[in-house]
Amino acid sequence: MTQAPRSRWWRRWPSFRRDRDLITVAIERGADADGCAVCWVLEARERRSLWILLREHVLDPGTRGDWNRTLGFCARHTSALCATATGMGQLPGVAILFGDTAREVARRVGAGARLHVWRDCLECGREAQSEAAHLRRLAQQLGDAAWTERWAPKLRLCVRHAASIMRTGMRTGVRARPTIPLAEHLREIAVIGGSHDARSLRRTLATLQAASLGFESPSGVPALPLWGCGVCDAETTAVTDEGRRLFQDGGTPDGTLCRRHAGLLLARSAVAPAQLADHYSSALQRAVDALEERRTKRSAVLPTACPLCDFVEAHAGELAASGAPDSEAALCLRHFEVALERPAASGGAFRAAHIEALRALSDELGELHRKSSWDARDEPKGTEQTSWIRAAHYLGYDARALPLTR
Ligand SMILES: [Zn+2]
Ligand SMILES: [Zn+2]
Ligand SMILES: [Zn+2]
Ligand SMILES: [Zn+2]
Repeated sequence: MTQAPRSRWWRRWPSFRRDRDLITVAIERGADADGCAVCWVLEARERRSLWILLREHVLDPGTRGDWNRTLGFCARHTSALCATATGMGQLPGVAILFGDTAREVARRVGAGARLHVWRDCLECGREAQSEAAHLRRLAQQLGDAAWTERWAPKLRLCVRHAASIMRTGMRTGVRARPTIPLAEHLREIAVIGGSHDARSLRRTLATLQAASLGFESPSGVPALPLWGCGVCDAETTAVTDEGRRLFQDGGTPDGTLCRRHAGLLLARSAVAPAQLADHYSSALQRAVDALEERRTKRSAVLPTACPLCDFVEAHAGELAASGAPDSEAALCLRHFEVALERPAASGGAFRAAHIEALRALSDELGELHRKSSWDARDEPKGTEQTSWIRAAHYLGYDARALPLTR
């Protein structure tokens, strides 16, 4: 079969996009979609990047070298990777990558080297690069009268990206014209009126979260079986109690709850969906006020910090002490790194137990990979089938299948 000539594809490409660079075209496609245009671009980038990693790069030595250097992704991207892999039926790829991390952590612990967990997530780095490039170009285009006239009426941005555009515009000297409505649609979203049934309330909540926090990475770590980190458990209990306290008597906390903590409070029935929607609605209204203040005053502060993330940070020491489990081999990666800094943890037995647990995990992941092959199709399946879920909980800080703060 002969290939269709290029010119036919070219004729289908809308004429108004033919003289655009790819970054501008991506922004315009984002503006055509629902929600924040920059978030749309980032979401599409993330999907593509994880798909390519699993389909093509998982056996590439350079990619594996980078993965081992950074010990894999942060919790949010670990969860997104699992969602992508499940959707593609690519669990062997995940077993290979998680197996690499387990062996590399064991090697570093054995050698007394530093772990540096989550310091350098490759996907976060790529996302930041793409975000900066698209925001820069958008700020430039908003200085162009013809482009602005065509696209500004459609352009929607979340709180974070509207704030970034104002900042980028100030820095580069290209100010978004005051007539461009960067925050009006946010104010419309913030007003939640009328009565809701359960389903429409969830939809409203999702819209409010998207406007306040930006796009949501897919979450793909099943809730069970857990890794069972004692510090994570202590943290979950303390955060739930604190969340219940913040919302008691119809109160609503300052700041904006991150998705993970909002999801946790909902799952534990510490807050009702309607209360949570009220919280996001008032946080979004405060954010829009601050955005409008920013047009004239740089110092206006956006209320985007999560009060429960702040709580965890402020009480990290107490939580680590109260949740110290009997067998420290069961700590998740992040809490194991924290525990290593305690003098009591410098003992060889503490490290050896953790290394032992990691070797067992990496053996199971190896088995999962092996049994995924055609040759092993008749072999009975065992506990190795859930090893990738345990590994995801170990790596992703027992994230209860919910993505972490953005
Ligand atoms: Zn956005
Ligand atoms: Zn990341
Ligand atoms: Zn933990
Ligand atoms: Zn939080």
